Amino acid sequence: MMEKHMTTYKETQKTIRAYKYALWLISWDQETEMPKKALDYRTEQIAVLTERLYEVESNPDYIQAVEKLYEQIDKLDESFAIEIKKMNKSLEIIRKVPKKELLDYQILQAVSASHWAHAKETNDFSVFQRSLEKIVDFNRKLTEYLKTDELKGYDVLLDMYEEGFTTKEYDHFFNKLKEELVPFVLSATKQKLKISRKLAKGYFDPIKQKEFSQYLTEVFHFDQERGVLKESIHPFTSNVSSSDVRITTAYKTDILESSIFSTLHELGHAIYEQQVDPKYDGTILGGGASLGIHESQSRMYENMIGRSYAFWEVHYPKLQEIFKKELKNISLLEFYQYINISKRSLIRTEADELTYPLHIMVRYEIEKELINGKLKVKDLPRRWRQLMAEYVGIRPKTDTEGVLQDIHWSLGNIGYFPTYALGSAYAAQIYHAMNSEINVESAIENNHINLINEWLKEKIHQYGASKTPREILINTTKMDFDPSFYIEYLKRKFSY
Ligand code: ZN
Repeated sequence: MMEKHMTTYKETQKTIRAYKYALWLISWDQETEMPKKALDYRTEQIAVLTERLYEVESNPDYIQAVEKLYEQIDKLDESFAIEIKKMNKSLEIIRKVPKKELLDYQILQAVSASHWAHAKETNDFSVFQRSLEKIVDFNRKLTEYLKTDELKGYDVLLDMYEEGFTTKEYDHFFNKLKEELVPFVLSATKQKLKISRKLAKGYFDPIKQKEFSQYLTEVFHFDQERGVLKESIHPFTSNVSSSDVRITTAYKTDILESSIFSTLHELGHAIYEQQVDPKYDGTILGGGASLGIHESQSRMYENMIGRSYAFWEVHYPKLQEIFKKELKNISLLEFYQYINISKRSLIRTEADELTYPLHIMVRYEIEKELINGKLKVKDLPRRWRQLMAEYVGIRPKTDTEGVLQDIHWSLGNIGYFPTYALGSAYAAQIYHAMNSEINVESAIENNHINLINEWLKEKIHQYGASKTPREILINTTKMDFDPSFYIEYLKRKFSY
């Protein structure tokens, strides 16, 4: 019997992989190469593929196979047992949520993203309000369907994005930020640093920027035979296996550092993916351990390594060589200070390293209040302005620059945002542990980023998603999550 279920499972997985591969390739193409007018024709093909994929994934024989294998999980070998456990958990939604509600919700997600875009464009929250109300209602119902003895309400959603992290852990984390970071930021961002006009108001040829981004892929030992670097409006990393990892960056002609730090950020995600043990390729154990752990790697490469003085001591001459005229008379110190300026700002994706987690705190409070019913969607804009003033010290004048700035809620992603802040905090704790075993600064100064990659591969990357975020953290740092490393790191860096 077991044999039969195993065959059904493996055969179905093979089909699922092929459909997902096709859809993945289509979406990569859509973000990077697709001509504008190709969209309608393509949408028809996507609809067919998506429907077929749903049929395969919801086939009763397949679901039964997963359940039967799960019942006999003790008899499976170790990594297959973890795979089945994860797979079984991921089918909870199909099992517990009525099919019609689930399908209606999928349509709602598709439609509400365009309502959101329209609302943002016209600065009119009311255009999006009705969709968002439905999304919040569905997510509140979802927490009822999926609740367990341990998880209820918002915790159900939080655990979906970062296993083992609920309001208990996040409250502790964000309360510490509130106590220690909010007053620190408000005073650190009071004074204005002088910025060179050349850096703030220059023209930076995209071809030259591209040359430097390519240079960075070499510095970080990004394997070009198992990956590519391209361009897209919003930078991202996309991969299907450890041997096909694709990243993008965006070249803005008036902001030199934008493409540099986007490339570094995505390289952090990409090196992680390339270093996952290939035995997990194509299974649910491929890819990173969680959103938070993934973001810890990207932010470590971008901020802790990429914005360090040691890093630019080595690589600033190369940047100056490429931008001879533009960076003439701008010293290393000036450049270093420029890329580490902290100021109060309205837009999360443009926020600096220090103020970033405060933007996340605003979203966390709001999500919590929405899901436990304390806050109504119609009161969101007001609540947003209030919390921004309280935490970041600045109040948006429009909803476009306020509550409408992010796409996440329109896609139904409630409980996702907190992982961004968590990632930065993990990064500080992991960096601290790494630094006690290898001399990170000297690795950077000697241009031996490979030493850092290798350490991370051994402790984190190779395991893919076969360990939980908490297991990864304990395995790597010998302790549970502790936000004080992050707060100390920020205070040290931004005390001038
Ligand atoms: Zn990221």
